[in-house]
Amino acid sequence: MAQEISRDIGPVVLLGPPGAGKGTQAKRIMEKYLIPQISTGDILRYNVAQATELGLKAKAVMARGELVSDDLMYPMVRQRLSQPDCKRGYILDGFPRTAAQAQWLDVLLEDKLFENPRPTQSWPIVICLDVDYNELLLRITGRRSCPTCGRIYNVHFQPPRNDEVCDLDGTKLVTRNDDRLEVIQPRLKAYQEQTAPVVDYYQRTGRLVWVNGDLPMDEVTGQIFRILEARHS
Ligand code: AMP
Repeated sequence: MAQEISRDIGPVVLLGPPGAGKGTQAKRIMEKYLIPQISTGDILRYNVAQATELGLKAKAVMARGELVSDDLMYPMVRQRLSQPDCKRGYILDGFPRTAAQAQWLDVLLEDKLFENPRPTQSWPIVICLDVDYNELLLRITGRRSCPTCGRIYNVHFQPPRNDEVCDLDGTKLVTRNDDRLEVIQPRLKAYQEQTAPVVDYYQRTGRLVWVNGDLPMDEVTGQIFRILEARHS
């Protein structure tokens, strides 16, 4: 959508409850700045689908809407962030989700500052999407995706042209296993209990910027781009 820019942008952390639009905004940042989106939820779902050792361990926890343990998360995130495509920056979507994870990430980034050759690293800029609770429920229960091309719809706000099939390839749309109503409440509760301290942590360290996630998607994107531009101007 936007003009592509290939300069260094550094780590960007996107915070916000499930359904806040983190995935959508992360994709837009990725397209504009050509840095990878790292969604820990996507990596875990891939591992579950492939029935890897990690996937087998995480599957039941994810199906209950609970957080996967740190001893599984940390090696997975460390391994992903050390890939060459992360050198100019990356967007973390879904990580950190607890204050302990935020502290762990700071230690990891601090260690990288002393690596040789020194990678382009700076502290993450942390953008928190703030969304009304009822709006969140509609967004999550309405979310559908195409298993073939990955396109995301919402039956309330962005329905496909024909009932429950993808506009692009006609595949039947699916609901993510953890978007079911009975799983949403624990996910939102887990967010409240465990992620609110992450917001506090970044607020205290002066790295947090709030964005009103109730605004139309393009306006949210515009605000995020302005924040990133201001940081690097
Ligand atoms: P998401 O797609 O980000 O909503 O993540 C889906 C599920 O993956 C979550 O409900 C958790 O079970 C698991 N998960 C994703 N990221 C993390 C994380 N940072 N820490 C622990 N569990 C996670």
